[in-house]
Amino acid sequence: RDTLHIIGGGMAGSEAAWQAARMGVPVVLHEMRPAVGTFAHRTGLFAEMVCSNSFRSDDDERNAVGLLHWEMRAADGLVMEMATRHRLPAGGALAVDRDPFAEAVTERLRAHPLIAVEGGEITDLPRDGHWIIATGPLTSGALAQSIRAETGAESLAFFDAIAPIVYAESIDMGTAWLQSRYDKGETEEEQKAYINCPMDKAQYEAFIDALLAADKTEFHDGETAGYFDGCLPIEVMAERGRETLRFGPMKPVGLTNPHNPVKPYAVVQLRRDNKLGTLYNIVGFQTKMKYGAQTAVFKMIPGLENASFARLGGIHRNTFLNSPTLLDDQMRLRSRPNIRFAGQVTGVEGYVESAAMGLLAGRMAAAEILGRTLPPPPPETAMGALVTHITGGAEARTFQPMNVNFGLFPPIDAKGGRRGRKDRYKAYTDRAKDAFTAWLSA
Ligand code: FAD
Repeated sequence: RDTLHIIGGGMAGSEAAWQAARMGVPVVLHEMRPAVGTFAHRTGLFAEMVCSNSFRSDDDERNAVGLLHWEMRAADGLVMEMATRHRLPAGGALAVDRDPFAEAVTERLRAHPLIAVEGGEITDLPRDGHWIIATGPLTSGALAQSIRAETGAESLAFFDAIAPIVYAESIDMGTAWLQSRYDKGETEEEQKAYINCPMDKAQYEAFIDALLAADKTEFHDGETAGYFDGCLPIEVMAERGRETLRFGPMKPVGLTNPHNPVKPYAVVQLRRDNKLGTLYNIVGFQTKMKYGAQTAVFKMIPGLENASFARLGGIHRNTFLNSPTLLDDQMRLRSRPNIRFAGQVTGVEGYVESAAMGLLAGRMAAAEILGRTLPPPPPETAMGALVTHITGGAEARTFQPMNVNFGLFPPIDAKGGRRGRKDRYKAYTDRAKDAFTAWLSA
């Protein structure tokens, strides 16, 4: 029987190895730590949590990441089993006792008769055999260069400049309006790709004051602090001059506000972020503001007073592929289908999402070795919504790493009048659990 090679024993690689071995496929897990380290990892253990010790909400009825926990438990996920076993009291969140957790994952993998562990850094994209690359946001430089040579420079990012993403339904369209600048865009769909939020002079000045005063996070040690000029944090642009934003991402030109004949002084634009049209990102608003400050400052934008955020902005080192163009729905590199990618390097974000993508890639690769094809889970499930997003649902041009959230799911109609948001989330998770159970048993 063919062996599955997995590079990287982080969240994704550990789960992938476990899943493939459970299916009877021999695995070699290649991990460079502790011989070669990263700036964030401290140990040589598998599944090390590099920063916070939280797997976020464990509520599987009304929260998308909690639903992902549920699905991973249903699929006998090792990461979720050990996180649950080593949980710390934290209300509705799944907080994890990080060292015992990582030790338990490491022990379980090392004890498995079908899993062999090989130390050392892999520096080249492998040629033959079945491989999963799960080397994470801090993929070693040599391997990243080799991936880049295969995918093209523009398809492998090293820096993550994330603009905040807003749920479309939470934008006040009585203030904002749909329009592409200069009415550009071939089709009617494209012309509706942007939502615009107008500001008058007083609102703009107050917004700049708030940006300048907001709490910011610092870069981690060893994380390069050199920004690319094309993705300066919005607060750094504001520091360069009070008018910089008004002549940059907030320029008011080429737009007509149907709600008000007075020309806006500045305009914040949001661009559609997924094909479903449920998510919009705020154009040019990558930021190092702390999360609390971001929500306060962005809610000052007219039309976004009641905005809910699918994710907040950030800038940090992060190696990830332009998966929508590079990967097929089996998570294989289109140009080299013997190689799959999994984890944060595929453009998901977070411990849980990364482990979930490892779970899928491990099962898909093992199925292939066993002569079968495992279809991805349906998009109504959390795992399916996430993998559908990264392998085709997201807009490739603006692709940025994504947390799981209900905006990625096919919308549920508010049948019989408006449902409350909580009821609607429950409807999403009920639908997902049925679909996931059916997928697992098939
Ligand atoms: P990792 O868990 O990083 O695993 C990748 C593994 O591959 C590592 O063990 C690495 O040593 C190994 N490797 C890399 N290159 C090679 C090579 N060439 N050969 C062999 N082995 C290699 N997520 C959260 O949910 N919460 C947080 O608070 C959080 N904070 C973060 C802080 C920082 C500084 C960073 C960088 C990331 C943070 N993340 C956080 C994201 C987090 O890293 C991921 O969610 C998760 O660890 C990704 O899982 P992964 O398996 O894809 O990568």
